[in-house]
Amino acid sequence: MATSPDDQALRISADEALARLVAGNERFLRGESHWIGVHVEAIPSLASGQQPFATILGCSDSRVPPEILFDTGLGELFVVRVAGNVISGEVAGSLQYAGSHLHTPLFVVLGHEGCGAVQAALSTRAHGTQHRSRIHILVENILAGLGEVDPGESPDAQLTRAVEQNVRWAVGRSPNRQRARPASRRERCGWWVRSTRSRPAA
Ligand SMILES: [Zn+2]
Repeated sequence: MATSPDDQALRISADEALARLVAGNERFLRGESHWIGVHVEAIPSLASGQQPFATILGCSDSRVPPEILFDTGLGELFVVRVAGNVISGEVAGSLQYAGSHLHTPLFVVLGHEGCGAVQAALSTRAHGTQHRSRIHILVENILAGLGEVDPGESPDAQLTRAVEQNVRWAVGRSPNRQRARPASRRERCGWWVRSTRSRPAA
């Protein structure tokens, strides 16, 4: 008999989900990742459904795959990746699906140092740099959230600040936002989280 999404929802809190991400990221930073490949014997159980414990919106940059950064395996994270970790209609729909159907208790927007998409937006703002049509749409999305970034600061300082502001902007535009707070800034990734639940699902 098929189980409903509610039956399949993980019974952990947002804080517990965050602790799992933090622990996985610390293992990654120590070079002690547990996840070394696909465990074939686990595939049949995954085929019957998914119970990701967190939803991650991250950048498409090849250097920041959430599954590796947080040392997770198949079925553990619901990941949406797009350059600049921006919210578009399709991205919002994916996030809403994760919240309303998969009931992931935690939502994380993962920004990263030296983001090229954010840098492109800063370049357009400072120098009027033009981009190809679809890239321009992406840049416009990022530019909308950079109002608090001081153009008088150094380029490096602006980029650092812009990455953070871009993450805040995405959190604020997420479809299921309830409360947002900063999570730890790790050595190589800054991230913000939004809890979809403060308690385990009933
Ligand atoms: Zn990026």
